[in-house]
Amino acid sequence: MPKYDVVVIGAGAAGLTAGALLAREGRSVCVLERSPHLGGRALAVDDEGFRLNLGGHLIEDSGSGLTKVFEHVGKELIHGEVSMEMPVWDNENRRWGSIRDRYGAHKTELKKVIKALTESSWDELEEWDDRPLRQWIHQHTTSQSVVDLFEFLAVLECLTDNWWDHSASDNLWVRKLHYEEKRRAAYSCWPGQGWDGMWQDLADAISGHGGDVRLNTAADRVIVEAGQVKGVALPHSPRVVPNDVEPGEVLEAEAVISTLPVWSVLNVVPEWDLPDWYAGQIRYLAQDRFRVAWLGLYLATEEPVTMFDPRELSTWLATPHSPTSGFMYDQTAMDPDSSPSGTHLYCLGGVIPGAKGRDRRYVLEMFERFEAGVYEMCPGLANHVWRRRGLVFDPPFGVVQKPMLVGAYRPHWKVPTVEGLYFASETFRSRGVGTDRAARAALTCVEDYLGRRIPTFGDGWRY
Ligand SMILES: Cc1cc2nc3c(=O)[nH]c(=O)nc-3n(C[C@H](O)[C@H](O)[C@H](O)COP(=O)(O)OP(=O)(O)OC[C@H]3O[C@@H](n4cnc5c(N)ncnc54)[C@H](O)[C@@H]3O)c2cc1C
Repeated sequence: MPKYDVVVIGAGAAGLTAGALLAREGRSVCVLERSPHLGGRALAVDDEGFRLNLGGHLIEDSGSGLTKVFEHVGKELIHGEVSMEMPVWDNENRRWGSIRDRYGAHKTELKKVIKALTESSWDELEEWDDRPLRQWIHQHTTSQSVVDLFEFLAVLECLTDNWWDHSASDNLWVRKLHYEEKRRAAYSCWPGQGWDGMWQDLADAISGHGGDVRLNTAADRVIVEAGQVKGVALPHSPRVVPNDVEPGEVLEAEAVISTLPVWSVLNVVPEWDLPDWYAGQIRYLAQDRFRVAWLGLYLATEEPVTMFDPRELSTWLATPHSPTSGFMYDQTAMDPDSSPSGTHLYCLGGVIPGAKGRDRRYVLEMFERFEAGVYEMCPGLANHVWRRRGLVFDPPFGVVQKPMLVGAYRPHWKVPTVEGLYFASETFRSRGVGTDRAARAALTCVEDYLGRRIPTFGDGWRY
């Protein structure tokens, strides 16, 4: 029976981070991945000559997260193009503008808010899990321009659209990080080695330090005995009849780090080993209506179509024909290899309520309206020579970051009743955005398992 210190379930951003850190720290580790790919939700795929990033667009790490993970395991996360501006579509007046035009005349007010934010401790921000972002800002200014800056960033990063839905704690956490590390409201970059290159680098770091990454290998069940993790059972193989429940190979381990999101984790971690309130928290967050879902649209044109710096990430609260808030960027400007020469690949998203994700008629109708709106906002896109529509729902971007659905309202990353069982997922208790958030969640669990902090990451904030 193979024996490891730790088995990690999932080879997405969290699983690869956990595996690479543990291997680098001299622990024997095996990362299990059900699919044939690395990267999980942040998967890059080839599609008729285009390279689409299905669940990863820009990395929101200003330095202390995913970037430091790479550094610690002997790799480099290359920070590519950085977006400096934020064009915003004003749907009422049907025109584009810059976010700077909104707050430009209110710099003193903005400085006041930045000062209040950077002087707030992480613990103080934790207390804002139950209230909207605007409520926190209004303590320091009533300038709508400053509010706009913070709220449009919330639309881009968390895909929430109404002001009362932007969580204070989650959004402020990222703003504080970026102001402190990069002295700017937002920082996002394209990975220089490409999304798939990034995941391969981490997998290489795992094997380079003696760890195993097993693709096409699903975890069937986490084994717990007398409140202690014993390992992970794999499915019986070969599986001849589809309803085979014969026990399969067991990988023994003293700890298991599951990186499965809330909507799939209970398929593998037996609910009877968890307190019912804890499993209840997982089930609550796993509801469709809390999924961040959107209409994903890739359009390729022969001529560049945007009116601003093509590297900019633009945003809006609604299009002329749909209530979908969203985002757009020119992927070819970030990575010229992602589209055939002579074409420009644009990536757009139009957010829909998670509860509508299974309603195919709604989705198709909204795609028509979203596209019609986009063609008015950016007329050049109507002349696209290639299109790919995709629904972001299963899997979704994540669990929506609304008040009372973040921070302490999420299940803790360590189960109180099972020794050695960790949940390193951005859908559990964690802070940050997307892949960087997943990496930070993994770091938290790895350090707890090691019983010490890893010096590379300093003594700053951890969950
Ligand atoms: C369309 C879209 C766009 C996004 N855009 C961005 C962005 O621009 N920037 C950003 O930072 N983030 C973005 N994200 C979010 C980002 O992709 C996720 O936050 C991140 O990838 C989550 O990583 P994870 O490792 O926590 O989870 P996952 O990536 O979900 O990894 C879990 C892994 O577990 C595997 N698995 C499942 N069941 C089993 C099993 N039984 N045994 C073994 N393995 C199993 C899955 O195959 C998967 O690989 C986006 C997501 C989507 C969907």
